[in-house]
Amino acid sequence: TKPKLVKLEFNNQFGFHPLTNQPYSEQYYELLKTREKLPITATKENFLKLLEDNQVIILTGETGSGKTTQIPQFILEAGYSYGGRKKICCTQPRRVAALSVATRVSQEMDVELGNEVGYTIRFEDKSSQRTLVKYLTDGMLLREAMTDNNLSKYSVIIIDEAHERTISTDILFGLLKQLLSTTRKDDLKVIIMSATIEHKLFQEYFNNAPHLDVSGRVYPVDIFYLEEPEEDYIAGSIKTCIQIHLSEPKGDILLFLTGQDEIEDCCEKLNSRLSQYSPNERGNYKIIPLYAALPYSEQRKAFLPSPNDKIIKKKIKIKKDGKGGEGAEGGEGAEEGEEIIETTLYGRKIIIATNIAETSLTIEGIVYVIDPGLSKQKVFNPKKRVESLLVSPISSASANQRKGRAGRTRRGKCFRLYTEKTFKKLEKQTTPELLRSNLGNVLLNMKKMGIKDLLHFDYLSPPSIELLIRALEVNHYLGGLDENGELTELGHQIAAFPLDPQLSKMLIMSKHYKCCDEILSIAAMLAVSNCFVRPKKNQNLADQAKARFEDPQSDHLTLLNVYKEYDRNKKNRNSWCRNNFINYRTMLQADNVRNQLFQILNRLNLYSLSDIDYAKNKTLLKLNFKKCLVEGFFMQIAHQLDNKNYSTVKDKQHVVIHPSSGLALFTEWILFNEFVLTDRNYIRTCTLIDGQWLVQIAPHYYNVTTFRKGRTRSAIELIFLKRSFFMKNLKNIQSLQNKKKN
Ligand code: ADP
Ligand code: MG
Repeated sequence: TKPKLVKLEFNNQFGFHPLTNQPYSEQYYELLKTREKLPITATKENFLKLLEDNQVIILTGETGSGKTTQIPQFILEAGYSYGGRKKICCTQPRRVAALSVATRVSQEMDVELGNEVGYTIRFEDKSSQRTLVKYLTDGMLLREAMTDNNLSKYSVIIIDEAHERTISTDILFGLLKQLLSTTRKDDLKVIIMSATIEHKLFQEYFNNAPHLDVSGRVYPVDIFYLEEPEEDYIAGSIKTCIQIHLSEPKGDILLFLTGQDEIEDCCEKLNSRLSQYSPNERGNYKIIPLYAALPYSEQRKAFLPSPNDKIIKKKIKIKKDGKGGEGAEGGEGAEEGEEIIETTLYGRKIIIATNIAETSLTIEGIVYVIDPGLSKQKVFNPKKRVESLLVSPISSASANQRKGRAGRTRRGKCFRLYTEKTFKKLEKQTTPELLRSNLGNVLLNMKKMGIKDLLHFDYLSPPSIELLIRALEVNHYLGGLDENGELTELGHQIAAFPLDPQLSKMLIMSKHYKCCDEILSIAAMLAVSNCFVRPKKNQNLADQAKARFEDPQSDHLTLLNVYKEYDRNKKNRNSWCRNNFINYRTMLQADNVRNQLFQILNRLNLYSLSDIDYAKNKTLLKLNFKKCLVEGFFMQIAHQLDNKNYSTVKDKQHVVIHPSSGLALFTEWILFNEFVLTDRNYIRTCTLIDGQWLVQIAPHYYNVTTFRKGRTRSAIELIFLKRSFFMKNLKNIQSLQNKKKN
């Protein structure tokens, strides 16, 4: 049976708040006025009727039309909390957005943040039993689904910014679709909200759910492209900012950059460039950075009013014989032959933001958008099997979203710092994250949510079956999934790292091998791009520099040497990097990754300082380090044919060691980090290992019956034979010793 709605009447005739029974604050009435003007308010009745009649609604609308802030309030008022028994939640792809919107909505509803309106983001929960409207990241809702598979707390679930197609959002789609036809058939409603794109795809997926569009009034935006591509987009951005500020009519500026460091750097440069102008040339301006890691108090500055305009009065001398001379009537304060001219220098906010400002946060008053056409995106390189954040070109859908930010208050301008030709070559839509991510990790998380059949899960955009099966197999061999495909304890730990499972497994085992610090460093170095710089002019010098770090038996150890040296020279790491032909940015990135991995390892109680003095015992360090590599990478082993020619163990691919490798000798078994396919099959970043370790560490994978007959199988059989012979002898010796003692 369907539960009965319990209406909550805000703004009622008695003037008392239906939740707190207090009179409303002044701020409430003030905000109410602006809320009533939002485009979404006009469709309120229409929307609520649709909600009554349907399980799922697809709602689209221009950014700023009021979807995120108003829809949950409409739903609450209409009675879907059933007198406080159920909650309404709204997901956001970004932490900042969840926090910022929850704060705003608590003010609009005149309640204290954390009570009736709250938010939940990773490491921070500002919600309670009393919370009726909850904003949370899509990742957090997935986490909740891991412990409460039916999401039974919620009567209405809103998936916001659906067009962003994050992995979490995509998996929530599948989960919700399943719940809507099974356990939550009668008492769950779902609203998919998105910018004005892709609604057909969502409609089809949710059995032709109705679509409502609430786009309000938007003003046209003129687009300006570059004639020639510009290499340094930061310099280009600064130049454009200054040009607009000094010469364009009133209106704030929004510049899109890719990340925190870049934004801070640009703020500084822009500031110093603008301060070169005299106060009477530059007027008032406020440069405001905006990115996810910024504290909320700082983020709020983007919403504050623009600085005041400045009116400059200038005396202008007019020559007596000039035409001005005749008209000069000698008004107040003006002497003969002089005239006072007034000019207005417009006060502006110059907001320098990441993608957050693209759709999730709306800042009023923006008239100028500067778009260099780039953003940081998660990219999975299946060959490298590492996921990384890379600065990549945005999609044309994104470029148009950015443009739209300029047309909220009046006709605007968008400066694209690329050519029109480049724009036409951009991808139409950003590829869903699920299709460019390492599934190994995602699958473990889905398992945690109680999704049994990962192959037949109803994905909005299904990844290929091959990729899925591969990912399942890898997790099984690593010990993250048991025979029934269920998560093991180790699987839970592996799932905690944002890495490919092989790397995670290696990290988890590092405590056992007493080399956590070394493994953390190598994991970080493998997760970032190649750190060696080899400029055309100085190839020899660069090679000599690299040779100083090289270990003859292990490219992994070479990387570790680089990291250790870099770490030791932290005080002047910039010049150290230059002198050693090492990429400075890459090393900074590695540092950052290492720190994040350390925190996870520590939280899982899997970190410990080694009690071995490795400075004195380098051989032992190398041994432990290499064995730990095998723990994660026993599936990436090649068996020697002759000299530098090898064959991968199970799929028998003929491979050679990449020329960039520093290995000086070649033995029977070799571990590799990646398989590179160019003119030949190469293996890159290699370490010589002992075949004994393979059967010791991964006997289930090196089960001879699973190998085709041939050289490799014979070699493994031989290792097993030697091993059992050795074990027998060991037992004999032990029993002899015991006899002696007795
Ligand atoms: P949509 O989700 O459709 O993009 P929102 O509901 O986020 O729209 O925004 C509606 C209005 O509320 C916008 O005009 C915006 O300026 C305002 N707003 C939203 N969040 C805040 C905030 N944290 N501070 C000030 N104003 C805000
Ligand atoms: Mg929104």
